[in-house]
Amino acid sequence: MDTRIREFEKIKIQKYIPELDLLNNPVLNSQEKEFLAELYGFMEKELDSEFRKLEDLNYLVEEPTQDKKRDIVIGIMKKLSDKGYYSTILNTEDYDVGRITRNALIAYAICGGRWSEYSERYIAGNYSVEMGRLAGGTLYCNPVNYASNDAQKEKFLIPVAGEGKIGASAMTEFNAGSDIFRMELALQETDDIIIAKGKKLFITNGMIAEYIILYGRLNNGQLAAVVVDTENQQLKDFRSARVRTYGMTDAFVSRLIFDRVELPKENLLQGHGLDIAFHQLTEERLVISAEALGDTMKKLLYSHAYALQRRQFEQRLHQYQVIRFPISRKIRELNLLISAMIQYVRQLDMHPELAGSKLMAANTMGLKISATELGFESAIHCFRTMGGRGFTRQYANEIGLFDPYCMIHGGGSNYVLEDSESRRFFKYKPPRREFEDTVAKIDY
Ligand SMILES: Cc1cc2nc3c(=O)[nH]c(=O)nc-3n(C[C@H](O)[C@H](O)[C@H](O)COP(=O)(O)OP(=O)(O)OC[C@H]3O[C@@H](n4cnc5c(N)ncnc54)[C@H](O)[C@@H]3O)c2cc1C
Repeated sequence: MDTRIREFEKIKIQKYIPELDLLNNPVLNSQEKEFLAELYGFMEKELDSEFRKLEDLNYLVEEPTQDKKRDIVIGIMKKLSDKGYYSTILNTEDYDVGRITRNALIAYAICGGRWSEYSERYIAGNYSVEMGRLAGGTLYCNPVNYASNDAQKEKFLIPVAGEGKIGASAMTEFNAGSDIFRMELALQETDDIIIAKGKKLFITNGMIAEYIILYGRLNNGQLAAVVVDTENQQLKDFRSARVRTYGMTDAFVSRLIFDRVELPKENLLQGHGLDIAFHQLTEERLVISAEALGDTMKKLLYSHAYALQRRQFEQRLHQYQVIRFPISRKIRELNLLISAMIQYVRQLDMHPELAGSKLMAANTMGLKISATELGFESAIHCFRTMGGRGFTRQYANEIGLFDPYCMIHGGGSNYVLEDSESRRFFKYKPPRREFEDTVAKIDY
């Protein structure tokens, strides 16, 4: 049964807003604009109809939709991969635009969609499909590329990074959420195999992945990473199931059970698990920022369009300042953060050694917090502007109203990061004499 109410009109995005068009943004150079224009063309031709199909499936109740969605999402990743838009780590010399800049532009575009002047319509964006691209194309591919030998690259990296197979990254557990160091999944080494035993939670792509980078603990307690070939989800003693989420409905967020899964020892990656997971943290923070900014743009387009069209008390909603002001304020904030994001990704492309810089990591963490909070607030504002319609699937699905709620927690929860940031700022070791004076003054 389709739950859409016929009397509800579709929100038509019909006005071009130059400030919300990244192609129009003076901060991009000509090569970046060329790359982005081609990407938008591809989205209009190849992805828009697929995103609409995924959206339509969300209106059905009492009908199974999971398998249909899985096929569509797998098809989208393949299309992205064929054009070099899934992972950006291979063939870097084929492009004028740097690898991380491309990754960020793709993230922005896929989340935000775009008003097409040529077709005079809005081309859909989908945050949850981009989450799947991030999980497979970056969170799987980058660590595997970093910590694998040539044979492992051939076997585990090329199928995902080069051929668009679905990848996933499995860190989070029931007792190890923000506190990732508490991971308990056992990677028991014997002479010739590794036996994986434990559970993972909230794993994007988990139940559709062909390859998973699995983090766990070796016999000696050290964290490590191993690649799991799920044999098309048929691997013996491995089970996966969907976690039903508000928002991010196409990201196939899953629970995984490894019930003494036997893995070849050659699948173990080289090095410490935390180093493998976090060496690409700065890039991940930038791509998550780009996603949130693209999604912010989408929410602003919808708020703007609805405020233009909806009439109450004989006025259009945009005629009320309380509706209009937050939209213009957030457009301003969006463009400031886009400028910062573009500067960071370019710097990182030009100076790859910055990936190891603590200050760069801290700055991109700040950007990630600000960008995801802006996306969150823009969704709240959009929700308020919609009135009762915001509660309906009919409007919430199209706008992806709940998607940005996820990214407040994804990729390292904002509160954890903010807390450690503020502690760092106030870390103060008094000079010895001052310290002694203070101790002397204490009345025991
Ligand atoms: C849609 C979705 C997709 C995901 N995809 C993946 C994936 O592909 N792979 C993967 O491994 N994980 C994934 N995750 C998991 C995600 O990384 C975790 O949700 C996140 O790390 C938070 O862990 P938690 O949910 O257990 O929250 P908790 O750790 O229980 O935290 C609860 C709250 O307390 C706050 N908090 C915790 N510690 C502190 C502290 N020290 N200071 C201040 N505040 C604190 C947190 O910020 C949070 O707000 C995904 C999550 C979601 C929602």
